[in-house]
Amino acid sequence: MNTVVVSAKGATRWRRGHPWIYRSDVLTTARTPAGPVRVTDRAGRFLGQALYSPASEIRLRLLTREEEPLDAAWWRSRVEAAAARRAGLMPETTAYRVVHAESDGLPSLIVDHYGDIVVAQVLSAGLEAVRPLVLQAIQDLLHPRGVLLRNDATVRRHEGLPLEIVEVAGSVPAIIEVREGGIRHLVSPREGQKTGAFLDQRENRLLVGRLAQGDALDVFTYQGLFALHAAARCPRVLAVDSSAAALALARRNAELNRCGNVEWREANGFDVLRTLEREGATFGTIVLDPPAFAKQKGAVPRALAGYKEINLRAMRLLAPGGVLFTASCSFHVSRAAFLDMLADAAADSGRRVALECVTGQSSDHPELLTVPETGYLKGAVLRAFA
Ligand code: SAH
Repeated sequence: MNTVVVSAKGATRWRRGHPWIYRSDVLTTARTPAGPVRVTDRAGRFLGQALYSPASEIRLRLLTREEEPLDAAWWRSRVEAAAARRAGLMPETTAYRVVHAESDGLPSLIVDHYGDIVVAQVLSAGLEAVRPLVLQAIQDLLHPRGVLLRNDATVRRHEGLPLEIVEVAGSVPAIIEVREGGIRHLVSPREGQKTGAFLDQRENRLLVGRLAQGDALDVFTYQGLFALHAAARCPRVLAVDSSAAALALARRNAELNRCGNVEWREANGFDVLRTLEREGATFGTIVLDPPAFAKQKGAVPRALAGYKEINLRAMRLLAPGGVLFTASCSFHVSRAAFLDMLADAAADSGRRVALECVTGQSSDHPELLTVPETGYLKGAVLRAFA
């Protein structure tokens, strides 16, 4: 195994609980191929073993601080520990994340389980070099009927890796039916966003399913999941998305659940909120789950203006006692900035709005306190008092 030497600053990051060492803290200049390496400090003291990515700014991703063999059994035990952590989730869903990368000590690996199918993402060059061991561990532990790699995530470009979608084991159907609480829904593993569904919002959707009341509005509905959970309790639901393809699947999901009280509307969410406000409409339940408005740090001020606009309008649309579930999945918008934005919107709304709870990603997407990059989703339940 090759050895890579890092600076004291790099070593400190590992000691402080962050698994990445950047290019500028790697002192070795010799060409090292992608894959597992031994890492030492300048004095030759062993620091750990890591995945090395020669083209990436994130040059090293820590695997272990022990000198142990990184063989098939090692990868199997890491995947097994991740799966064991999710064991209690099984009753509420057949679609969940088994491996959330760095959070599970498996940097740059995503493994999502949809019924008996696995959809995974290999997101670094270092991990790509040990792909057969990782896939073997998935096969041995999860026994899927098929495994699909959704390696079309653009972060792979920063690793010098091609973007591709490949079936690597068994057979993966075009559509998979899964269950989430009392809702059945369809997932398209090749064409859906991420690995097919937004599994990170599962617990928030179940929460909305318990809180929903009155008529509901679900803006940015994608394949309709918040709307379907709300529809089980609400007389009427209006669900909005700008994507016709997403709504086509949402309609199929509604049929699957024999749900006839949702209107699926293809439109711009900003326009719909503005129009509804002008019309004086009110809702007992509103969900706002927009795409990431800030994809880079520089975009944060504009993103916050966008979040404020939709939240302000939603607050004005709430019936007295109405509940708003609002989310942001922009990594660059911190939880504090998100809550400040909501306070600002409430101040402008003229409503008395209570913060009932702050939520995050579902527990199968654990957010590590020492690794902020593992967390991106913020949510809040708000209630209009008057
Ligand atoms: N709430 C969904 C996930 C939403 S993802 C769930 O729980 O599964 C964000 C969605 O916003 C995508 O479906 C995208 O098509 C939609 N979208 C993006 N910009 C939009 C806009 N301006 N108006 C309406 N929908 C938009």
